[in-house]
Amino acid sequence: MNDWELMTQQLEAEWQELKETGLCYQHEHPEWWFPDTYGYDWKGAVRDSRKAQEICQQCPVVGQCLTWAVRTRQPTGIWGGRIFRLLRKEDEE
Ligand code: SF4
Repeated sequence: MNDWELMTQQLEAEWQELKETGLCYQHEHPEWWFPDTYGYDWKGAVRDSRKAQEICQQCPVVGQCLTWAVRTRQPTGIWGGRIFRLLRKEDEE
């Protein structure tokens, strides 16, 4: 097994652990962790993403989740209590 395959296997194992332990995966409103899916409902996105971030602070895998999201370069969503958002070219101008 080469280094790339080993890393992929490790990330997959970590992902499985997050899914089994993370509070968001059992929550009745998983959409709270994906404010980008709210369209033009800005108020709803802000309100619910704050609620998601509060839950993240109680999550037993908050540190692992943040590390995993950074390592896998998640473009959007709330991971480890932080909001991830891919910067688009127009955002930088
Ligand atoms: S830290 Fe937040 S996003 Fe990560 S698994 Fe826990 S509840 Fe889900």
